[in-house]
Amino acid sequence: MTYKIAVLPGDGVGPEVVAQAVKVLRWAEKATGHRIILTEYDAGGAAIDRSGTYLPEKTLSGCIESDCVLFGSVGGPKWDMLPGGQRPEQAVLKLRKELKLYANLRPARLYPEMAGSSPLRQEIVENGFDLLIVRELTGGIYFGEKGSEQTAEGVRAYDVEQYSEAEIRRIARVAFEAAVGRRGTLTSVDKANVLETSRLFRRIVDCVAEEYPQIAVKHMYVDNAAMQLVRNPGQFDVILTSNLFGDILSDEASVLTGSIGMLPSASMGGSAFGLYEPIHGSAPDIAGQDAANPLGSILSAAMLLRFSLSMDEAAEAVEEAVRQVLALGWRTADMMQPGADRIGTQEMGEQVIRALNKMIRRTVSRP
Ligand code: NAD
Repeated sequence: MTYKIAVLPGDGVGPEVVAQAVKVLRWAEKATGHRIILTEYDAGGAAIDRSGTYLPEKTLSGCIESDCVLFGSVGGPKWDMLPGGQRPEQAVLKLRKELKLYANLRPARLYPEMAGSSPLRQEIVENGFDLLIVRELTGGIYFGEKGSEQTAEGVRAYDVEQYSEAEIRRIARVAFEAAVGRRGTLTSVDKANVLETSRLFRRIVDCVAEEYPQIAVKHMYVDNAAMQLVRNPGQFDVILTSNLFGDILSDEASVLTGSIGMLPSASMGGSAFGLYEPIHGSAPDIAGQDAANPLGSILSAAMLLRFSLSMDEAAEAVEEAVRQVLALGWRTADMMQPGADRIGTQEMGEQVIRALNKMIRRTVSRP
């Protein structure tokens, strides 16, 4: 098979971390015998500097013609003076919208060897945790009617939360399918004691649950979910939730793993096409210093191999290589712990490749 991947490194640390993810994709090409064609396109501030717009037509059509997109990060102080609608950050929002990517998958995994980096007490995280947040990405309050108006009591502003049955059903299916491939439990998070949209969300999730009798389903209010995440993150497998709640809970979950630089994400739209990016931004404070943690980008490449290229074994090998590198004590600055060895972005990429090469004989692609 030949696969086409659009690579959008973007700004700040984006190009540095994406370069390490590309090494992993090159490894997967060799290990599986499939051909992977990587084509780089401008996005964000880099695209504004070169062609005056954050998402040139060539970039968008390049993404549409590819099997998937590997994205770095966009934005930085250089472009902060631009009006909101012209800022580099619009690139990723426009891509999600144009590519109809309605499901955001954010795994948050704390490897036991990283427990010391978590802000949670050791007895809570000594065994690590491994959860997946499935967040609806193109509906809800972020996309509902919004505005502000002058009233007798001063300005009144509003944002309308709205969901259709179809929108809830399709994101619920993504979450149930994910649960089938994991530990088989799903927590649906809402605010059904107060919100009408949440009551509909709960009703549709229960309907979809009938198609998946093997999955244990639990409903949880979002305030309780926020608390349970810090009390006992190990209780969660798949968390399904709306756009707004998912935005907040996934950032909370990310910080529990010790470093924002570790976490990958995938945005999907009901097919094998996806956009893969680390959850962090362009980190301008450390850009160009070979100091960024590339593991979020490398683990995003693993998700790409699994969901868009059906290379499950290669994806597992990448995740296992990351675990081994951490177990050996290699850390970038953001993850440093007493007794660990500090290395830079490129060396971290090399260490992952070294670990993969040791496994190469065991790794084959799925036909
Ligand atoms: P950020 O995620 O870039 O950085 C927050 C903190 O985490 C910083 O201290 C940074 O050094 C650190 N950090 C981030 N990634 C790291 C990594 N891989 N390794 C080690 N440390 C890392 O968030 P911010 O500072 O709020 O935003 C910076 C810029 O990025 C802004 O322009 C923002 O709009 C943009 N941004 C882009 C995206 C995206 O492209 N999807 C997402 C979030 C923020």
